[in-house]
Amino acid sequence: MVNEKREKLKMRYQSLRESMIKYQLETRGITDIEVLKAFKIIPRHRFVDFNFQHLAYNDSPLSIGEGQTISQPYIVALMLQLLELKNSDKVLEIGTGSGYQTALLAEIVQEVYTVERILPLLKNAKTILNDLGYKNIFYKAGDGTLGWENGIPKREKFDKIIVAAAAPDIPESLTGQLAMNGKLIIPTGDRSFQQLVIISKTEEGYVHRNEGGCMFVPLIGAEGWQL
Ligand code: SAM
Repeated sequence: MVNEKREKLKMRYQSLRESMIKYQLETRGITDIEVLKAFKIIPRHRFVDFNFQHLAYNDSPLSIGEGQTISQPYIVALMLQLLELKNSDKVLEIGTGSGYQTALLAEIVQEVYTVERILPLLKNAKTILNDLGYKNIFYKAGDGTLGWENGIPKREKFDKIIVAAAAPDIPESLTGQLAMNGKLIIPTGDRSFQQLVIISKTEEGYVHRNEGGCMFVPLIGAEGWQL
């Protein structure tokens, strides 16, 4: 009986996931096959509090405690698509939060380096991600505006950097840790409204492109906002 209930719930979440992909992502222009595949696999409900699990596939952000949120599925998909992720990429993620976006990245790329400043969130995300079996994620507690300080294991720069919180300006420490031909995506603006900016590092310099308005929680740190 318990197993039967569990199986029914699993199927219900799978069906909600498929609707989310169809109505929230594909109809809004998400076409990257790897991104869509990852969204189909990752159980978003596992990354939110038990009491909010029934809302996990809604078209909105949700509270994850500590005054933070798991972002709206569409904005996460858009950021991942704009990064043009490759299997061989090593990605730096600033703002682990619930760990949901970390899991999506870990499905698509070779290695994910994730930094979170709120320790209980990082611990909780790590527990879920370990439980789901991910072995290609490296965790760090601290100020992600400074990137992955003290060098990247066995590598100098990141192919892609994704910042899941809003900064007043683009942190120089992050552009400095981006590989040639790499991409950095970050919401920048004031505390209440921002523009999603994608920066490509080319031989001729950094190319900035604006991808429209968004609303994120603030990036707190030495090269972000003060608390
Ligand atoms: N993508 C995450 C997910 O899937 O749950 C949501 C991230 S949430 C919108 C932003 C996160 O950035 C919060 O967990 C917040 O604590 C974190 N954050 C803010 N400033 C930071 C910093 N300087 N370094 C690392 N994390 C930071």
